[in-house]
Amino acid sequence: MPAGDAGRRLPASRSKSILRGVRKVDTRAQELVSLLIPMIRRTALCVLVVAALGACASSSSGDPELAPPATTQKPTAPEKAPAPDDSSLDAALRDAEDLRAMAAAARASEADRPRSILPFGVTWAPAAQEGSAFGIRVLERPSGRKPESISGEFASLPVRFGRLDGHWFGLAAVPIDTEGRQDLQLRFEFDDGSTHEQTVPISVSSRVFQKSQLTVAPKYSSPSAEAMERIRDERALVRSVLDTASAEWLIDTAFRAPRPLEVTSPYGVERVFNGELRSRHTGLDLKGAPGEPVRAAARGRVMIARDLYFSGNGVYLDHGRGVYTGYFHLSRILVEEGEMLEAGQIVGEVGATGRVTGPHLHWSLWVGGTSLDAGSLLEMSVPVAIETP
Ligand SMILES: [Zn+2]
Repeated sequence: MPAGDAGRRLPASRSKSILRGVRKVDTRAQELVSLLIPMIRRTALCVLVVAALGACASSSSGDPELAPPATTQKPTAPEKAPAPDDSSLDAALRDAEDLRAMAAAARASEADRPRSILPFGVTWAPAAQEGSAFGIRVLERPSGRKPESISGEFASLPVRFGRLDGHWFGLAAVPIDTEGRQDLQLRFEFDDGSTHEQTVPISVSSRVFQKSQLTVAPKYSSPSAEAMERIRDERALVRSVLDTASAEWLIDTAFRAPRPLEVTSPYGVERVFNGELRSRHTGLDLKGAPGEPVRAAARGRVMIARDLYFSGNGVYLDHGRGVYTGYFHLSRILVEEGEMLEAGQIVGEVGATGRVTGPHLHWSLWVGGTSLDAGSLLEMSVPVAIETP
């Protein structure tokens, strides 16, 4: 030490007292640091939780997992420890208490929130095509939340889901003149009243429909006034059936063709009857000789089984969830209205009743009241455990 500093030396007792004071301040600083570290951690946790909650609240779907990641915001911590005096220590303690209370409130609010929802797996088959139906499966994750109900909409038409063999399954209708990208909108409802929404874009391919000229009995191309009244009554009856959706699926197998699949006239053909009446073929015509069996495409309830003006002897089966199949021009009906049929059960025999050019089976499909190509049912992957031969 330079000699000049000797004059500034303090007495030994004063020096010791200062040293004690420094040690005391030192101990307080250590106490403060040990207090501040958990406090800074809590501040960071709190900022993260608040950021996460804020991000959730800003998500329009209310789905925390569709919200932007909350971890992009860095927690802000005090840059410097305050000077180690009693008043700042008290202030720090009060701040720590406040932060502890805020963190506890944030944790409580997090506990009140429903468990997070991952997007559900969605598969469909066959590929969406104009004038056809396709089956949609919604897959639950084993560890994920189980919805109480799922509702859907596609091409502005409802898709009614029901549980089938432990899966969620629904049929979507693609009406004629629908093509390009369409959004499947799904809405999930949970037992606590919370909801989750999911949108799946699905591309619809277009089809070219044939045109044909047909000759039938004049009463079918220009019906009498009396016949028109009957036609109106029958249309109202059929409409009231087709527009109703049973609460549950009635099917227990995949769909099958009611006859060997020999198509004599495809769905959607634009027809001109006797050169005057234009109409679209709303079924799939399958080859058959009079008396040959016609079988139920899947399990279902007989809703209509009677002689109809255009359809001849016709049977309408309800398969649940707004899905119906029709079997027309039968020579004989072998089932009764209200009867429950198993898949493959005989509904009647091939005939040539109603507006026909010859014996065949006209097979129809409706989903949510819309007429579609019944052939699309055969490419559907229906979730059933046991396939009846
Ligand atoms: Zn037909």
